[in-house]
Amino acid sequence: MSKPLHDPLIEVKDLRVEFDVRAGIVKAVDGLTLTIHRGKTLGVIGESGCGKSMTARAILNMIPKPGKITNGEIIYHRRMKNSLESQVDDIIDLTKVDPDGKVIRQIRGGEIGMIFQEPMSSLTPVYTAGVHINEAVSLHHLVPLQKVGDQIGEQVQAHRKVTKEESRVIAIDMLRRVGIPKPEERVDNYPHQLSGGQRQRVMIAVALSCEPAMLIADEPTTALDVSIEAQILDIMRDLQQSANMAIMFITHNLGVIASMAEEIVVMYMGKAVEQGKVLEIFQNPKHPYTQALLRSIPKLGKKKTGERLASITGMVPDPFNLPTGCVFHPRCPMFMAGKCDKIAPQWKKVGEDHSVSCLLYE
Ligand code: SF4
Repeated sequence: MSKPLHDPLIEVKDLRVEFDVRAGIVKAVDGLTLTIHRGKTLGVIGESGCGKSMTARAILNMIPKPGKITNGEIIYHRRMKNSLESQVDDIIDLTKVDPDGKVIRQIRGGEIGMIFQEPMSSLTPVYTAGVHINEAVSLHHLVPLQKVGDQIGEQVQAHRKVTKEESRVIAIDMLRRVGIPKPEERVDNYPHQLSGGQRQRVMIAVALSCEPAMLIADEPTTALDVSIEAQILDIMRDLQQSANMAIMFITHNLGVIASMAEEIVVMYMGKAVEQGKVLEIFQNPKHPYTQALLRSIPKLGKKKTGERLASITGMVPDPFNLPTGCVFHPRCPMFMAGKCDKIAPQWKKVGEDHSVSCLLYE
């Protein structure tokens, strides 16, 4: 049995992120509440545009303009050493800190690391395998013309009191820990000299070089083949265990989430529609959208019968013209006329640590 979840690190409460554009207001995140615990992995799942990545950006207070946080709190339980060298939690609402200020710059990259799907756009080609210090660094974009070792080293120097020489030693050690062969040589490589899998490992090395309390991994393995993906997931699990790091794992791939997360949040059109322990959701999904997502993943060991995988019918709705009632109703096989198109479902507890937002359970 898994250990109970406790020790919250990030608490997102009724978060709303909106984009006010000429055509209207897009609710990218619409009343989201979730908790990420120290040492645990929360999987956030949903189709493109469901608000997963925007939630991650909100945590880092990096919403691109013209978007802004219009409601809610993101409480960060920041663990600090006091004068007696014991640890205390400093409670910070990340929605209230200056997005360009010192505090958030310490947190981004230093305390909350982030990795993305496409390492080439993230690694700086002009650098070799190390780190750099602007917004791209906070998001762990590798710089094309910088040696990867320098990119890691700059990240470490930005957040820890170490010399350039010490940061190089740390860079080599990080490259070794993420499984890069001959790290003493690779540290002086530029991103284009590495394979896609190696670049993604360097990204992970950059993100983890400051031993963050949390890693946000946004589709980190989507561009990789299955064997490299398995290795990268192993590395993330190992590093999580050794450093008690929390992971927010964002993906549309339920197969990957099953092996990584303790808890899952399923998102649709900026809202959470189902939340719970991973096993509970896989064995007993309640929301028709979650059920459809689960039907769409291949089953291991199942004989090929020529049967096609189920896909979710219908289109994602126009964000400027959202359906009334339940936003999933135009695509829902369980649609109840006169009810689902009129009433917005509320959260309902359907089991221990399992909640759903669907009128079938109200
Ligand atoms: Fe389907 Fe109605 Fe539940 Fe929405 S509220 S998911 S339309 S059954």
